[in-house]
Amino acid sequence: MGSGRPAASRDNLLLRPQAPLQAAERDRKAIMAPQGLGLDSVHVRMRMVDRLKADGLQNPRVLAAFARVPRHLFVDTALVNQAYEDTSLPIGLGQTISKPSVVGAMIALLCARPGLGADATRPLGMCLEIGTGCGYQAALLADLARQVISIERLRDLHLKARHNLDAVRRQLPGSPDVRLVYGDGMLGHAPSAPYDTIIAAAGGRSLPQAWLDQLAPGGRLVAPMDDGRGLGQVLTVVDRHLDGRLQQTSSGAVLFVPLKSGIT
Ligand code: SAH
Repeated sequence: MGSGRPAASRDNLLLRPQAPLQAAERDRKAIMAPQGLGLDSVHVRMRMVDRLKADGLQNPRVLAAFARVPRHLFVDTALVNQAYEDTSLPIGLGQTISKPSVVGAMIALLCARPGLGADATRPLGMCLEIGTGCGYQAALLADLARQVISIERLRDLHLKARHNLDAVRRQLPGSPDVRLVYGDGMLGHAPSAPYDTIIAAAGGRSLPQAWLDQLAPGGRLVAPMDDGRGLGQVLTVVDRHLDGRLQQTSSGAVLFVPLKSGIT
């Protein structure tokens, strides 16, 4: 049964034999643009997830977040082919998007916080991130948190992250639920404190007191910090037990951009 138009469209096809090819090329460009990864990005992303798993990242919720968040939307077009490599990449202003395996290890540590109930569907609870950068880690955290507050001290990166997260929201409607704050993260963010989880993407000499003050009982903080013995940065974990006591441990050498005070 025809709609009454087949003859006309058949004529068009006969008169313009390349038309379907041109349409296909237009569609291909629309799908690929502007990131240049297009449909393949899902497969490339799943390969990254498989590698993270093979390298020891076990938490299924963290792996699912990596599978969901399109990392290629957070890197510059020129670097898009490296978006799913396990590597840090420049994001402008001398800063970098962190390496997926390190981000994964840090988030998995947060998920294992002491105050986590057995059936928590949002293991990160109320989460504070210091150092939004391009917003990628914030998007991962949002998959696992009740709410994410993310602070950035460089205005241009704060705005870039806003733009990137809007692009993700167009692909994944409804997520990620991230509140971006332009400010000095060394002061934490008192209005939404206390936090069940605090994660820093930049490393300093010592842990700012504000972070400790804003950590909820049962909460965990993970941050790169100088080990104080000239060995460089180590991943520092601080737990606030339910009785209010703080316990600090460290887990492995890392290399993050410096934590700086003030805003620019
Ligand atoms: N999580 C980011 C990684 C960004 S790199 C991502 O996924 O892209 C670390 C970021 O920390 C940089 O953007 C840097 O500007 C920021 N930073 C350093 N000191 C800060 C501070 N005191 N407050 C807020 N952000 C800070």
